[in-house]
Amino acid sequence: MMRAFEDILGLLGQIPLVDTHEHLWEESHRIGVLTEPEKYGRIAAPDFGILLSHYTDSDLCSAGMPSDLLQKITSPSLSPKEKWEIIAPWYPKVRNTGYFLCLRESLRLLYGETDLTADNVESVSAQIRAGIQPGFYEHHLRKVANIDYCHVNSLEGEVFMKTEMPDLLAQDLSFVGFCTLDSWRKKAELADIEVNSLKDWHKVIDWCFEQYGPQAVALKNQMAYGRRLDFAPVTAGEAEKPFERLLADGKDLTADERKMVQDHLFHYCLKKAAEYHLPVKLHTGYYAGHGSMPLERVRQNAGDLCGLLRAYPNVRFDLFHIGYPYQDEYIALAKQYPNAWVDMCWAWIISPEASRRFLAELLVTAPANKVFVFGGDFIPVEMVPGHAAVTRRGVALVLRDLVEEGWLAEADVPDMAERLMRGNAHDFFKHPARG
Ligand SMILES: [Zn+2]
Repeated sequence: MMRAFEDILGLLGQIPLVDTHEHLWEESHRIGVLTEPEKYGRIAAPDFGILLSHYTDSDLCSAGMPSDLLQKITSPSLSPKEKWEIIAPWYPKVRNTGYFLCLRESLRLLYGETDLTADNVESVSAQIRAGIQPGFYEHHLRKVANIDYCHVNSLEGEVFMKTEMPDLLAQDLSFVGFCTLDSWRKKAELADIEVNSLKDWHKVIDWCFEQYGPQAVALKNQMAYGRRLDFAPVTAGEAEKPFERLLADGKDLTADERKMVQDHLFHYCLKKAAEYHLPVKLHTGYYAGHGSMPLERVRQNAGDLCGLLRAYPNVRFDLFHIGYPYQDEYIALAKQYPNAWVDMCWAWIISPEASRRFLAELLVTAPANKVFVFGGDFIPVEMVPGHAAVTRRGVALVLRDLVEEGWLAEADVPDMAERLMRGNAHDFFKHPARG
């Protein structure tokens, strides 16, 4: 008998997901910020506004909501009722999107509500506030979302977060700043190395790899938010002079010279990736936020990557967000290059339907080991269970359709489900705390 959708969904619910991408704060910081807001960075106030503070906020702005209202929704100075009055006119315009589908799934799973309404924003807010206590990450992520463990690209610290929960929250080593020199002084201080030359900067990078490389699950880089991924091979000799001027203040540097420095340092880090056997996660495709994405640049991501994939056959690349909206090209990369994997993190809520088509097409085109199906990509942990639910639903639809269409044998569903939910990630990533 043909496997029903509900059967497959039930099967997926039993298998813990490996979550290959989050931006979660440390749990203790989420708790600490309630009483000492100045000590930790900024995060939305602990009420229903936190559910509207990440991604959902972008759709509200794209729908036409003035962006200065976002401050009010996430501020501690307005009551839930006052916040709802701001949101109410805009909410019906956005609740169709994947971001809001995710929000409602989280509401259902964590707070027993099917939607946000004028009548429940206070009780939902009270539950959110009460929920922020020791152990709530374990509860939300493992008990509710059935996630095995997460990969965290922390936006809190410099380079690498030494987490208090190494089993649940494996950490990425961020190498963006190594290439762009953003806040380079802080990194130099961290390594206790005086930086006057490119050689010195190499030493800072070396130090960070020595310190954090063995504790990291992967390297992470989102330079695609600021430039093309056409990293040319540039020698240290060529990069040296522009690097020194960049240190001085960089104001007179041309765009080409700045690119040369970045190109050189990016390649330097890829060589370190090979040395430390760390996979390299790259942002590709769609931009977070609203009103800023230069699509003509995003469109070149997949093509730009081919040179890197050929130049570093021993480095494994994890290409994020299926390169949406150019996901077909990433199926081609996964099929062609032994060192290219595609990661569906964030994709299920950017576009549930594009993600469904992507996974179905990938599974009849590229080797099945070349995809990771889930990364919540959230700062607030409260949104992760919703994203995991959207993902399980999407994967279940894909497997059901492939069986119905005759592309996948029914008997192969359990193995495929196991592979997609966690098997591929377990094979690919070495969990630093589990050995
Ligand atoms: Zn992200």
